[in-house]
Amino acid sequence: MSHAPDTAPLLSVEGLSKTYRSGRRLADRLTGRPETQVRAVNNVSFGIRPGEIMGLIGESGCGKSTLGRAILRLHEPTSGRVTFGGTDVTALSDDEMKAMRRRMQIIFQDPYASLNPRRTVAEIVGLPLSLHGLAKTPAEARDITAAIVEKVGLKTAHLDRYPHQFSGGQRQRIGIARALVSHPEFIVCDEPVSALDVSIQAQIIQLLTDLKREMGLTYLFISHDISVIGYLSDRVAVMYLGEVVELGPVETVLSNPRHPYTQSLMSAVPEVDRPGHKARVRLTGDLPSPLAPPPGCKFHTRCPLATEICRHKAPVSETVGAGHTAACHRLHENLSVPEAEPA
Ligand code: SF4
Repeated sequence: MSHAPDTAPLLSVEGLSKTYRSGRRLADRLTGRPETQVRAVNNVSFGIRPGEIMGLIGESGCGKSTLGRAILRLHEPTSGRVTFGGTDVTALSDDEMKAMRRRMQIIFQDPYASLNPRRTVAEIVGLPLSLHGLAKTPAEARDITAAIVEKVGLKTAHLDRYPHQFSGGQRQRIGIARALVSHPEFIVCDEPVSALDVSIQAQIIQLLTDLKREMGLTYLFISHDISVIGYLSDRVAVMYLGEVVELGPVETVLSNPRHPYTQSLMSAVPEVDRPGHKARVRLTGDLPSPLAPPPGCKFHTRCPLATEICRHKAPVSETVGAGHTAACHRLHENLSVPEAEPA
């Protein structure tokens, strides 16, 4: 679905950062070694328009899930601002934030770990109703819960069963029902299909697509799978070591990726259907530790196009097309990560 670029965002993220401090161990205190800080998310900004799906892609450990949780204040941001429907979410009191969570929900990656094994489906899915006072009586809560359980493809007969009695796909449907029962407007979908078999993934993706249309939802969809992001998203933000390095309409970014990291990331899925696709060199090496991020451009330790400036100066994000931005010193040279040698 395309969205007018001038539509006001439902959600705005401005300069959001999240830093974790590691506690100082005794040895650190004795040697005077300073406390270690991990900047998991660094100065991230973007907006999501009503009804839009913003894909957020990057390797495992790049900070995508932390960003999703910081937006919902499940992990308190260190700095920056999140505005939702005109309200500064980052300035809300705990009670106000609790009320706001009725409108902003999350679907977790691991459906089993996120469901209380000692609670029935009716109790798990119905919990937000009691938290937010959305049902006047237990009977009404049960009716609302039954309706949403059916909407996600389960049966009312499932209401009194426990999570271990379901398959992985069914458990994820329970997690989706729990997120939707309070009729939110915005959902962070945090790798909701990554733990599922491929055949089940397709069913859950279709379900999320249908629910978005029927319920007028807006998603931040987090995934490390560029095929999933390409299928679902209207726009995509590419994240590397806590920073968004490229952002734009999904067709534009996939057909004409401007950042060397995006180009390399796409080499992992040569079957992605995009015009002019060439197999690029694959990324080598691991994501550097966020405990000791490289200076300059954080991608320089793995970038085939890195030059001297990349090692000491961080690039800033620049506009490279309509609604398309990227952060790289060599954008204007129109270079591409080299093609892979034929096997
Ligand atoms: Fe590569 Fe340099 Fe661009 Fe970073 S700034 S992506 S190291 S070319």
